[in-house]
Amino acid sequence: MERSIKSNRVNYLRVSVTDRCNLRCVYCQTFEDKDFLPRSEILSYEEITKIVSILSLSGVSIVRFTGGEPLVRPQIEKLISMIKEIRSIRSIGMTTNGVLLEEKLNYLKNSGLDTVNISIDSLKRERYKKISGFDYLDRVWGSVVKAISADFKAVKLNTILLKGINDDEVLDFAELTLDNNIYVRFIEYFPTVSDFYTLKYRYVPNKLVKEKIERKFGKLLPVSEFVGNGPAKNYTIRGAAGYIGFINSNTEFFCHNCNRIRLSASGNLYPCLFSSFNINVKEIVRKNENEREIKKLLDEFLLNKGNYTKEKTRRYKFIMSDIGG
Ligand code: SAM
Repeated sequence: MERSIKSNRVNYLRVSVTDRCNLRCVYCQTFEDKDFLPRSEILSYEEITKIVSILSLSGVSIVRFTGGEPLVRPQIEKLISMIKEIRSIRSIGMTTNGVLLEEKLNYLKNSGLDTVNISIDSLKRERYKKISGFDYLDRVWGSVVKAISADFKAVKLNTILLKGINDDEVLDFAELTLDNNIYVRFIEYFPTVSDFYTLKYRYVPNKLVKEKIERKFGKLLPVSEFVGNGPAKNYTIRGAAGYIGFINSNTEFFCHNCNRIRLSASGNLYPCLFSSFNINVKEIVRKNENEREIKKLLDEFLLNKGNYTKEKTRRYKFIMSDIGG
């Protein structure tokens, strides 16, 4: 059945600032992915700021930097300061693997970073290495600890469970929320080009994850929809300091609530992670069109977002590090 979707109010922009990453997670960027974009093809900080600034006139007020790994892009804190200057931007976040976060955290915080999401798929050293390709768990955990004490508006841990690899760590992750004011979010794995044939049987539905948590900790209490900006369904264990979120990327249809668009490292603007449709904003900005013309094109794009839902235009093959997960 094809559902009809009205265009939602878009207030959230995810920006992939680079397609490069310092990890090689099995479900994302593999060691074979070596064709990175040349520097000239990546949006400059000035170009990103210009695009965000124009979009902010049409309602975008939340920006999240992702990648690739945003912290491998030199002086990313400069970009944060530039975006902070835009009056109607009320929240700047970053999704990072945390490898470089501990050493850069103070710069990021001082530049105005409000929230941080750290991807961490295992709390066990050997496993972490197996999933990510690198022996960096200690560094990532150091970043988690520092982020928790850094007074961000929110600290969220992102975990993808894969059957037979790390799905026995559900309760260990859930337990982290008992004493820490953090979100632990389980993201359902979805297939992309690099991994589809090898990993599709390892996918774990969040329904089972929730049931497992409830068997140990009792019924999870739902948390108001207004906490957080994304598709996560948030809960808390009774009496816990933090929250547990489920992002049911595979088993749920949440296009009707979607408030986000995505700017890829190569300068394409996408209405949806899964959409094959995009517009090349880099070209438009580099042609030096005047701001009013650019705004007109972007407004038209925003108006039509509802035509590009996962159901209507889903693509299964795409490079996550370009568009940013
Ligand atoms: N390097 C940063 C990081 O590790 O968080 C930002 C980029 S990464 C692509 C952003 C998020 O996308 C991560 O939380 C990652 O787990 C998620 N992701 C990547 N590939 C995915 C897939 N196939 N299915 C579900 N989530 C995925």
